[in-house]
Amino acid sequence: MTKIQMNVPLVEMDGDEMTRIIWKWIKELLIEPYVELKTEYYDLGLQKRDESNDQITIDSALATIKYGVAVKCATITPNAQRIEEYNLKEMWKSPNGTIRSILDGTVFRAPIIVDSVKPFIRTWKKPITIARHAYGDIYKDVEYRVEQPGQAELVFTGENGETRQTIFSFKGKGVILGMHNIDKSIASFARTCFNYALDIKQDLWFSTKDTISKIYDHTFKDIFQAIYDQEYKLKFEKAKLEYFYTLIDDAVARVIRSEGGFIWACKNYDGDVMSDMVATAFGSLAMMTSVLVSPDGYYEFEAAHGTVTRHYYKHLRGEETSTNSMATIFAWTGALKKRGELDKIEELIVFADKLEAASIKTIAEGVMTKDLAELSEVTNKKVVNTRNFLVEIKQRLDEIL
Ligand code: NAP
Ligand code: MG
Repeated sequence: MTKIQMNVPLVEMDGDEMTRIIWKWIKELLIEPYVELKTEYYDLGLQKRDESNDQITIDSALATIKYGVAVKCATITPNAQRIEEYNLKEMWKSPNGTIRSILDGTVFRAPIIVDSVKPFIRTWKKPITIARHAYGDIYKDVEYRVEQPGQAELVFTGENGETRQTIFSFKGKGVILGMHNIDKSIASFARTCFNYALDIKQDLWFSTKDTISKIYDHTFKDIFQAIYDQEYKLKFEKAKLEYFYTLIDDAVARVIRSEGGFIWACKNYDGDVMSDMVATAFGSLAMMTSVLVSPDGYYEFEAAHGTVTRHYYKHLRGEETSTNSMATIFAWTGALKKRGELDKIEELIVFADKLEAASIKTIAEGVMTKDLAELSEVTNKKVVNTRNFLVEIKQRLDEIL
């Protein structure tokens, strides 16, 4: 069999711990035997980030701007304990945060659906993708602890003078919070969501609490609506897709009653909370994919989970692990498909689809890792270790090919 050729390299961002091990095996077993894999390799493993003073993370993001598509392995975000464990020079920032701020993106998270693994919500038949705005609100807020009676005011000083509003007159102790967002970021969030909906051919829902937050949340609603009317209405109608705005509490109720099969755009905090709820309700964090889409059309694919540290320590002790590689495989297939689309390499798209199908078939036939065994309704389950799960997928991939 001749291998599929690629023209433009994928930006490959390697990572840490158990996912780094899975990363190597996925390439060795499921990709390199079939594709003449072209990547520009960046090692974002913690050691290399430390050696390069985190320059490698910045370089990998810049390479994504150059080539357009990246695939990323999970990475450690260092804390005090990691500084000791890896003898780090500094507590380096979250690589995802660094990459996101360079690419200015929106994060879309979607579950991988397998028939025998039933969502906790009976009506859900198709995936629900959460689109999370990744700028501002409480993640860039200013907070104040009121210790004594006094007047809290909202003051804005502009070129044309000052405006002042009373927030509250405190008689005793309390708390205050100030947060912001900017039209430019909201608009790029909106455009990224509309483009993604057209791309994957699903309806787009958006929700805020505009009835209560009559200026802040209402501005989000208005910017989305204006951009929809001016730039996307016709495209949506042509594609027979719907843009649907509703209050966040109404959206929550509708999501639970729905069949799935749409994108739910959420403000920063709502997306943070709702994506964990949706991921868990669909079954397992190990089945959640994640893609960062920038308003300029750059893509970075990854698994939603972390480096699975607990399993890695077991692996280091020589114990058997049963780590689920589905989300990492789907990060690779997502990236290969996008490369195939951009470079018009049909074979690459077909191959990635077949690798996804083989992976799902493996679980549907009862061969799975431990995390899914507890959730699957298949009667004759075969629980396999980390590597054998990939070997089983490879057998089915060879059959399909
Ligand atoms: P985690 O790596 O997602 O793992 C949490 C737990 O979820 C695991 O211990 C495991 O449960 C289960 N799990 C997650 N992925 C799994 C998989 N593929 N297969 C089977 N089980 C899976 O989160 P964490 O332990 O909080 O974080 C570990 C490291 O990852 C941290 O250093 C953090 O900074 C980093 N992190 C990176 C990213 C990223 O790069 N995008 C995201 C999140 C966290 P059991 O142990 O019960 O089996
Ligand atoms: Mg969260």
